[in-house]
Amino acid sequence: MREKTTPFLRNLLENTSISKQYLIAEQPEDIENNYNDPLMEDKHEVVKGLIHKYKNRALVKVSYQCAAHCRFCTRIRQIGNPEGTLKSDEIDNIVEYLINHPEIDDVILSGGDPLYTPKLTYEILLKIKEIESIKVIRIGTRMPFQSPKSFESPVFLELFNLIKTIQLTKPFYILVHIEHPAEIVPESIAAIKILKELNVTLLSQTVFLKDINDDEVVLEKMFKKLYYLGVMPYYLYHCDNVKGLEHFIVQKEKEKEIAQKLRTLLSGIATPLLVEDLENGYGKIPI
Ligand SMILES: *Cc1c(COP(=O)(O)O)cnc(C)c1O
Ligand code: SF4
Repeated sequence: MREKTTPFLRNLLENTSISKQYLIAEQPEDIENNYNDPLMEDKHEVVKGLIHKYKNRALVKVSYQCAAHCRFCTRIRQIGNPEGTLKSDEIDNIVEYLINHPEIDDVILSGGDPLYTPKLTYEILLKIKEIESIKVIRIGTRMPFQSPKSFESPVFLELFNLIKTIQLTKPFYILVHIEHPAEIVPESIAAIKILKELNVTLLSQTVFLKDINDDEVVLEKMFKKLYYLGVMPYYLYHCDNVKGLEHFIVQKEKEKEIAQKLRTLLSGIATPLLVEDLENGYGKIPI
C-alpha cells in the first residue's frame, strides 16, 4: 500500500501520533508486501464487493480507495487497488443477492471509504434503500479526520440530501473511524456537525495502536471529545492480526487494564466496547 495523505493531514503530521498512523518512514521495519486476510473476508465475499459473514448483516466494499492510507489498515492488502471500485453491473449483482436473501436486514457500506467516492455511494444507496428487507443502513468513514473540507462540496450535498431522506424511513448510522484526540480539530468538528445535521446516529470506531493511543489519558480525552460532539463510541478494536502489522498490536492484558480504567473515567454512553474480531469468523467478541 503506497503512502497517501491529504493537505489537511499534512498540517497535523507534526504530531507523532498522527504521523505514525500514515507515514512509511515512521514504521519500525521494512514494510512487507504479502499481507494476509485473517478475518477471512475474501472467503465470505459472496458476490464481488459483498461480504456476507453474519446471517443478518452484510458489508459492501464500495471501493478500495480512501482519502489517505492508514498503515495499520486491516485491508492493507487491497487499499489503493482501483479494481475494487464497483461497476454498475456489480452493484446490480449485489442488489440481487440482497433481495434474494431477505434474512439480511442490515447493510454496512465500507471499503475503502464510501465517502471518498460520494457519487458511487449515492448510486448504491439509491438502489439499496428500495429493498424492503433492508431495515438499517450504515456507512463507515474516516473522511472527517482525513479530508473534512470535502464535506462542503456540492457532490456531498447531493449525497447528504439522499441520506436525509433515507433516514426518515430506515435508521441510518454513520460510524466515524478515529484513533487519537489530535484528530479532533476545528475542521473535523465542522465535518462532524455536517453529519449531525443529517439526523443520523453517529457512532465511532477506534483501533488500539501501540505507542499511539494505548494510554488511558489519551483515550479518555478522545472519547470525551466525541461524547461532547454527540458521537457515541461504539467499538474499540484489538488490532487485527495482519501479517506485517505486528508493530501496531497492543497486548490484550494492557488493553483490558486501560478499558477498565476508562470505565470509571467515562459515562457508559461514552465508553466503547473493547472487542477482538476473531479469526474463526465468530465476529467482534468482547475482550
Ligand atoms: C463488523 C462487521 C459487521 C457488523 O458487525 P456489528 O457487530 O453488527 O457492528 C458485518 N459484517 C462484517 C463482515 C463485519 O466485519
Ligand atoms: S480509511 Fe479505513 S479503509 Fe482506508 S486505509 Fe484507513 S483504515 Fe483502511
